Amino acid sequence: MGRIRVLSDQVANQIAAGEVVDRPASVVKELLENSLDAGANRIRVEVEAGGRKLIRVSDDGCGMNRDDALLAFERHATSKLRTADDLLRIGTLGFRGEALPSIASVARVTLETCTGEEGTAGTRLEIAGGKILRVEDAALPRGTTIAIADLFFNTPARRKFLRAESTELAHVTALVTHYALVHPEKHFELLSATHTIVSAPPVARTAERIYQIFGKETLAQLLPVAAETPLERAGLPEPPPWKKDPDEPPRDPGTLRLSGFYSKPELQKLNRNSIYIFVNKRLIRDRLLMHAITEAYRNVIPPTSFPVVLLFLEMPAEEVDVNVHPAKTEVRFRQQSLIHDFVRDSLRTALVKARPAAGFLAALDAQPTASPSLMPPSTSPLPGAPDSEPLNADGAEPFELTPRMPAPVNARLDFGAAENGGSQRPAFDPRTFDR
Ligand code: ADP
Ligand code: MG
Repeated sequence: MGRIRVLSDQVANQIAAGEVVDRPASVVKELLENSLDAGANRIRVEVEAGGRKLIRVSDDGCGMNRDDALLAFERHATSKLRTADDLLRIGTLGFRGEALPSIASVARVTLETCTGEEGTAGTRLEIAGGKILRVEDAALPRGTTIAIADLFFNTPARRKFLRAESTELAHVTALVTHYALVHPEKHFELLSATHTIVSAPPVARTAERIYQIFGKETLAQLLPVAAETPLERAGLPEPPPWKKDPDEPPRDPGTLRLSGFYSKPELQKLNRNSIYIFVNKRLIRDRLLMHAITEAYRNVIPPTSFPVVLLFLEMPAEEVDVNVHPAKTEVRFRQQSLIHDFVRDSLRTALVKARPAAGFLAALDAQPTASPSLMPPSTSPLPGAPDSEPLNADGAEPFELTPRMPAPVNARLDFGAAENGGSQRPAFDPRTFDR
């Protein structure tokens, strides 16, 4: 029995639609997400010519039988979703059933996949420009290898928008790096025709993964943070009283958990490209959380610089709507202000606790630097994002020197920003750190 079904029109029409394949990194993103959803523990990504010529992703996940392998290339065919209700609690990275057909319509695809079940053969499938050219049995290990050759070979208009190989490769690298960060227990590799770009065997903790990927220096400048809070109410609307079963115990709204790493004040960046936000292991862009982070660092670093933050948030799937953006890089929280304040306060508390005696002063004297960067130069963390984002380009609130509200955690800490007479730098009084 196959696992993949074609969604009914009624469900399909409720899915945020749009073109997801615009460059090699977006292909890699979809393929990586599929491998992770398939439960893979080892994922290998190979690219040639920045991904234009070839992208190959191999995993040791659950694989597909022949029927599923064919069905996977149909529009809205997915094993991850059945009903419109499932859209309210998506626990997988994918759910739209559109990535493989979109990719296959603009490239030459070879799929090799095997479930590894006794007595079933693996399948090899060739597709070009959306047409199935060949299907055959093949002896294969459990897992899936999908190769995408000649991306946009039949859509010259889109091919024209591809940047230099090095730029495309940088975007791919950023993407593999992010997924490697959020899954330290899995083995990730990224190889170009000539180099090993990422090699990250499994490790026990995120800190070790940061060390593997970014090295000792970056890790030394980061501090861990962890916090959790019970969610006040369940994310889904309660049934009306007359429909409620009185014997049913009240639903547990679950817990909001935060973990991650944040930079000491000395480490300052010129843009927000070193702020990574993961919600339920999905890398997202989010203005709300970006704002919470900036609030936490308010008066700790100058308003024109940005910290390095790796933020991992975990919450029940019902609390977050991931069906709002075609590339699944944006989400909507059901309890926005609770999450915003929790992130701001947890980070702020950690920052205040961790402050070294003269650290903040040193931080102010340090000029923001562009390196060492967590990213290859001029690369934004998500595919499709502009390469160098001017500050506030996303319409986020401009930064202010004067806090609009009292410092959230320790109101006694007076950073003196208000008295600073309009200078670009808020004044810091070292004496406030002596108590
Ligand atoms: P979605 O991920 O939204 O379901 P895709 O078009 O990306 O849609 O994939 C379609 C289906 O193909 C998935 O639902 C899954 O069942 C199957 N599939 C894709 N990639 C893999 C893989 N690497 N391993 C196992 N199954 C896969
Ligand atoms: Mg997918």
